[in-house]
Order: sequence, then structure tokens, then C-alpha cells
Amino acid sequence: MTIRDIDINVSKDVKAMLREVEKFSMEVMRPAGIALDRLSDPEDVIKKESVLWDVFKRFREMDLHLLQIPKRLGGMAEDLDPMAAILMTEQLGYADAGLTISMGVSSLPFNAAAMFPMPAMQQLAKDFCGDKTGSLIGCWAITEPDHGSDWSLGGNKPKCGPSVTGVLKGDEYIVNGEKSEWVSNGTIATHAMLHVGLYPERGMDGQGLAIIPLDLPGISRGKPLDKMGQRPLNQGSIIFQDARIPKKYMAVPNPDFLKATTGQGLANVNGGMSIVFAGLAKAAYDEAYRYSRKRVQGGSRIFEHKNVKLKLMQMFTRVEAARANARRMALYNFANPMKPSVVHAVAAKCLSTETATRVASDAMQIFGGYGLAKEYPIEKMFRDARASMIEDGVNEVLAIKATEFM
Ligand SMILES: Cc1cc2nc3c(=O)[nH]c(=O)nc-3n(C[C@H](O)[C@H](O)[C@H](O)COP(=O)(O)OP(=O)(O)OC[C@H]3O[C@@H](n4cnc5c(N)ncnc54)[C@H](O)[C@@H]3O)c2cc1C
Repeated sequence: MTIRDIDINVSKDVKAMLREVEKFSMEVMRPAGIALDRLSDPEDVIKKESVLWDVFKRFREMDLHLLQIPKRLGGMAEDLDPMAAILMTEQLGYADAGLTISMGVSSLPFNAAAMFPMPAMQQLAKDFCGDKTGSLIGCWAITEPDHGSDWSLGGNKPKCGPSVTGVLKGDEYIVNGEKSEWVSNGTIATHAMLHVGLYPERGMDGQGLAIIPLDLPGISRGKPLDKMGQRPLNQGSIIFQDARIPKKYMAVPNPDFLKATTGQGLANVNGGMSIVFAGLAKAAYDEAYRYSRKRVQGGSRIFEHKNVKLKLMQMFTRVEAARANARRMALYNFANPMKPSVVHAVAAKCLSTETATRVASDAMQIFGGYGLAKEYPIEKMFRDARASMIEDGVNEVLAIKATEFM
């Protein structure tokens, strides 16, 4: 038996929806993730005939991209049971964390656009809701080659400001600089939520937020990044050379407003990460448990050896602590969107990602030599989990930032 889900207080409709998500995640995402992970050239992950596009299409066909957009724009945010959203997200992370991040990030600029009253933003959110093929893909362009953790920490030192800067000339911002090769969906995105320095004298605190199409003149991309974990997740740089960004796309020209809402952004992103990687932790535990019941050594199934039993119980405890903690935090933050608990969200991100890494490593130990073999999913799960302690902010740096919200 794998882990029994003891959060049973969900409606029949939600249970039916979860069955659909489980089917999609295990029959489409899991095998696609394994196939994409094995491609040695990250260019192949995004080529025309790649199974990646099938995942995008099926995800959109199931309306999983509508969860955070209001009904008036074509979304389903008001109808969403928060627990359903949590359980679905965990299941997607269980199936393939890298693809889940790719799908999640692809919605970010459009979810954000829905929150701004300007006609251009509202239209963008509407167009996204109507997209059932995956033709609109978002990314979150924040990290720069020389500014990683600086973005997580913020600050008003003029010498430590964004390298991507925008200067308002008439009705356009002239934007120059480079976002790093770590931008998720960076080479396949059609739109970006772009953090851009507008007031260099205010350092990181002088940034604005633009939500832009990426086919504007002066914008180009780097090559897909070759990396260790979450290989199905496309990443790559975005380069701005005198790019002209119409003023209507500068959703937040006022840095003070952006700073005042930093907490909401941190809570949202870290909260999502905590659920995805609690799902991955559970997947690694399940694999180890199943393997331990089959593998015979010393005349009995390895599950019968006390050290293996003890390790499984410790893994079980860690996984359940991470899942319960992520759910508790997410339910609170769903109910308090304007004043979420940032500290709980960051703590949950750190706990889930560290748990996923630890449990995947323990699972590898239980698999013995086969834990290292491509034949089994554990070595991929370990690599995917390890990346998460750096993703969306290094855990240590996020923890430092979170103390500002204590
Ligand atoms: C899988 C994955 C997906 C990602 N997706 C995106 C994305 O969609 N968009 C995007 O913009 N970025 C993305 N990133 C980038 C990610 O946000 C950065 O990698 C992260 O913020 C760390 O920045 P860095 O890699 O430059 O490390 P650095 O900032 O150089 O940090 C290196 C080390 O130094 C320490 N350190 C650095 N500065 C400080 C400090 N001031 N105080 C204390 N310690 C410090 C850190 O703890 C860390 O251990 C992604 C990264 C990964 C791994």
C-alpha cells in the first residue's frame, strides 16, 4: 500500500476531477517527463515533434490553466475549491515536477495580467483562457546573469540594481540588458512577466513589472539550458537590445507598489512550490516502498529487514509532515489572499524541497545499485528534487528574506 490520503473532506465532484488529473498526470505527464529527461540535447525537448507540446495541449484542454483567473475573463477562480487546487497540484508534482513547473510558470504572466484593470492586461488574460492548444506560454523573467539572490533579497543600494533597465521615451520604454539562462520556459515563452529596473538610484527597490509579448523588436533568446534536474523544464535567457516596450504593457510602473506587494508574490510562488515538491517527496517514498516489497536479498524481501523498515517509516513521517504543512499553509493563504503568511509559505517551500531531496536520496539507498540506474525513476526524482532547493530562490536566501515578514 502506498500512503493513504487522510484529507477526505472533499466533494464527489472534486474526487471525480482528481481522478481525471491523476489519469492525465500518470498516463501523459509521467511518461513524457521520463522521455524528455533522457534527451541529451535540450534543443530536442522543444523541437516541433516533441511530446512536450502534447503535454501543454492536454493540460489546456483539461482547463487546468484557468484555476487562478476570474470567471468574467473566462477562468474559474471563484468556483475553485482550494483543497481541490492543492490536491491537483500535488498530484502533478507527483507525476513530474519539472513539467508541473513548466505548466505553472506558463500561466504566471496571464494570471498576473488578470489582476490589472488596464484593457491590454484584461484582454491578455481573456486570450489565455481561450487558448486550448498551448499557443500562449508565459515565463517569469527575473534572474539575471549577475543578479540571482539579489532579487530575492531586494534592497536600495544603487550599485546593486537590475541590469535589465527601462527608460521611458514618449509612449515606450526602451529596454536593455539580459535575463539569465535560468528563466523557466525562457526559450519557448510567448509572453513574459518581466522585472525591469526603472529607477537605478534605488537599486533593486527601483524595479517595475511589465507583462509583455516576446515578439517585440529588440528581444531575442539564448539557447535552451543543459542542466542536471528537471530537464523537461525548458530554460533559457532573454536578451533586450533597445527593445521598445509600449507603455500599456508596464503593469506596475511604480516601484513602491511592487515592493508593497512583494509578500503576496513570495507567498504565492513559495506556496505553489511547497505543494509540488511535497508531491515529488511522496512519489519517491511510494517507489521505495513498492520496490522494498519486491526485491529479495538475504532470503527475504528487503522490506523485512529492520533497517529498511525503519528508513521507510522515517521517510513516511517526513513526507506526511511536508504534505500536511504545505496544505495547512496553502489553505490559510487561499483564505487570506491580500495578507497571506509569507513566513509559512517560505517555511513550507524549504521543508517540502528539503524533504523531497532527502526522501529521494533515502529511496535511492533502498534501491541499492538500481537507485542509480535509468531503468528506475528514482535517480531522476533525486535530480528533480535537488534542483528545487535552488529554484525560485535559494532556500537559505529565501529564509533570510522571510524573516522580514515575521
Ligand atoms: C530549476 C530552476 C528554475 C528556475 N526558474 C526561474 C525562473 O522561472 N525565472 C527566473 O528568473 N529565475 C529562475 N531560476 C533562477 C533562480 O531563481 C536562481 O538560481 C536563484 O535565485 C539563485 O540565484 P543564483 O543561481 O544566481 O545563485 P547566487 O545568487 O549566485 O547564489 C549562490 C550562493 O551564494 C549564496 N548567496 C548569494 N547571495 C547571498 C546573500 N546576499 N546572502 C547570503 N547568501 C548569499 C546563496 O545562498 C547560494 O548558495 C530558476 C532556477 C532553477 C534552479
